[in-house]
Amino acid sequence: MQSLEVFNTLSRKKELFEPLNAPFVGLYVCGPTVYNDVHLGNCRTFISFDLIYRYLVHSGYKVRYVRNITDAGHLEGDRDEGDDKFSKKAKLEQLEPMEIVQKYTLGFHEVLREFNTLPPSIEPTATGHICEQIEMVKKILANGYAYEVNGTVYFDVEKYNKQYDYGQLTNRQLEDLISNTRELGGQDEKRGRLDFALWINAKPEHIMRWPSPWGWGFPGWHIECSAMSSKYLGDVFDIHGGGMDLQATHHTNEIAQSQACNHSAPVKYWMHTNMLTVNGVRMSKTAGNGFLPHELFTGNHDLLEQGYSPMTVRFFMMQAHYRSTLDFSNEALKAAEKGLKRLLGSISLAEKLQPSEKSTVNIKELIDKCYQAMNDDFNSPIVISNLFEASRIANSAFIGKEQLTTSDIVDLKLLFKHFAFDILGLKQEILSENNKVLDDVIAVLIEMRHEAKMKKDFAASDRIREELKKINIILKDTKEGTIWTYEEEI
Ligand code: AMP
Ligand code: ZN
Repeated sequence: MQSLEVFNTLSRKKELFEPLNAPFVGLYVCGPTVYNDVHLGNCRTFISFDLIYRYLVHSGYKVRYVRNITDAGHLEGDRDEGDDKFSKKAKLEQLEPMEIVQKYTLGFHEVLREFNTLPPSIEPTATGHICEQIEMVKKILANGYAYEVNGTVYFDVEKYNKQYDYGQLTNRQLEDLISNTRELGGQDEKRGRLDFALWINAKPEHIMRWPSPWGWGFPGWHIECSAMSSKYLGDVFDIHGGGMDLQATHHTNEIAQSQACNHSAPVKYWMHTNMLTVNGVRMSKTAGNGFLPHELFTGNHDLLEQGYSPMTVRFFMMQAHYRSTLDFSNEALKAAEKGLKRLLGSISLAEKLQPSEKSTVNIKELIDKCYQAMNDDFNSPIVISNLFEASRIANSAFIGKEQLTTSDIVDLKLLFKHFAFDILGLKQEILSENNKVLDDVIAVLIEMRHEAKMKKDFAASDRIREELKKINIILKDTKEGTIWTYEEEI
């Protein structure tokens, strides 16, 4: 098992949380709102948490990973009124709301599979946990932190803040938050500007509705995550994650709900991923700058110069730290494509290395550096720079510029397996399909060169070698026959 340092370097108010000291880790990540296709920005968050999940598992923790599906309660506006997004989309597509949910949930799973993310241990839905949400609202009401108006139950933020610190997650004072929020209008049922709905009275035309002690209605968005996380991970659990945009409202309200219900802070460590941007603007459904993953894979979008494989996109994302913003650009993706090709190429090459008596390298040090990077807040870009160094070593050893002993080769292969595949979650298959065709074509050329040599037609054999060199493919004659590699890797 790796050290627990990983949890001591997270960028948050450490003093609020105790150190984690059990081999079991409860991880809850806010999942997608399934009334629409997920865009690449959403995927960044889920891929980042896949890295975190993979590393925890690799480190020997038994992780219960819960990622919910939001399939109810997301309103169009920010004022706890209007249609929910599912009913609206259902009317637009002339489907049942649950058909919308099914359609986009399946799409979400398919996309995440393409990105080689591991499935969560439990994937609960908001509509499947209405009873738990109602129970929680009842408790919050009984504890005096909520009030009901015409079948809608609101959380009383100002009352809560008298006892607890409502703005703790973002280090903000209640007065500042209030002054930055719209004044209540005459139509508002809420008592305070920051109050938010726990349960919402359903208008007659509202399709998704459930019976409750307050009449027919549906849950507010924030209560689902509080109810489902406590059901599956307990009232206090280890890590809660999501995109940074969820910190100020959704997660702030989750803390308030759980404190008001159970009198304890629900989460030891909050982790937030930063945003994927396009020309500096956050990628979002509403901004209209959200690529769909399949547009990216096919290149079928005005902003795309070509298609990029899912593994190229995953590698592109891993090259940035999860807490840094990441700007989409064709140049960056092309560079990622090239880097990934180089890395996967040398991983294949490592399989063919012959051991030497002595060693000119220190693979154990490289492995240590990778662990140090992951233990320092999951620093995937540093891991990648060490993988590139390992890749250079494999390529140099292949042409005899470095020497590796048998145990160095074992370590090198393990380094690639653990960090490139198990932890960064890359896959060899995608590129190897392309490589297979390339491999077959070059095998034909190697054979033709061999025949030319046999006939002493050195002009022809040299020409094959030179022409391949022009496109960065190097032929190398070894005892086992001729093999090829990319020049740029050496
Ligand atoms: P949603 O389906 O809108 O609830 O979003 C699902 C997840 O994607 C949430 O954790 C969001 O914080 C995250 N997210 C949304 N936009 C972006 C973005 N541009 N970059 C990274 N994560 C995002
Ligand atoms: Zn949530």
